[in-house]
Amino acid sequence: MELRLVPFEDLSPDIASCLAQALEQHGYRIRVSPVQNLPGRAFNPRRGQYAADPLLNRLGRLEGERVLGVTGVDLYRYVCRFVYGLADLPGRRALISHYRLGQAGDILYQRLLKLALHELGHCHGLEHCPENTCVMCFSASLEALDHSGRDYCPTCRARLPAEHRDASEAIA
Ligand SMILES: [Zn+2]
Ligand SMILES: [Zn+2]
Repeated sequence: MELRLVPFEDLSPDIASCLAQALEQHGYRIRVSPVQNLPGRAFNPRRGQYAADPLLNRLGRLEGERVLGVTGVDLYRYVCRFVYGLADLPGRRALISHYRLGQAGDILYQRLLKLALHELGHCHGLEHCPENTCVMCFSASLEALDHSGRDYCPTCRARLPAEHRDASEAIA
């Protein structure tokens, strides 16, 4: 499946290219989009955070079978103090932030890839999974995110389109 990877203006090119490579191994044909500005009206000065939905809406204007926005700003949504990411369930838009994932390095890339697979799983129609070793299990903390698996459990994987199912099996 084609995936348009959309770096927001604050994202380092290294992070975008590492993530692109990792997602290619999961069966996505990646097209990296030109850098997008962060919508100014999304910033909430009182909270020092960006509302996630305006960023997701910005992604909705871009073409592509799937569109994944990546940023390093802190995101929140309604009553959620923060969100690591969000996505259409199901649909074509997904958004992730590395703001709360720690310093640059292997662990950050691992966490970011998990978030990407999780949010893209929502795009494919997957809901949260009770299996805590599954990448679709809900993580409210870094501890939970690190504990969750790096890939889909067999039940979730079976519900993915074939090209991603097969890619996941090749890695697992
Ligand atoms: Zn989720
Ligand atoms: Zn699962």
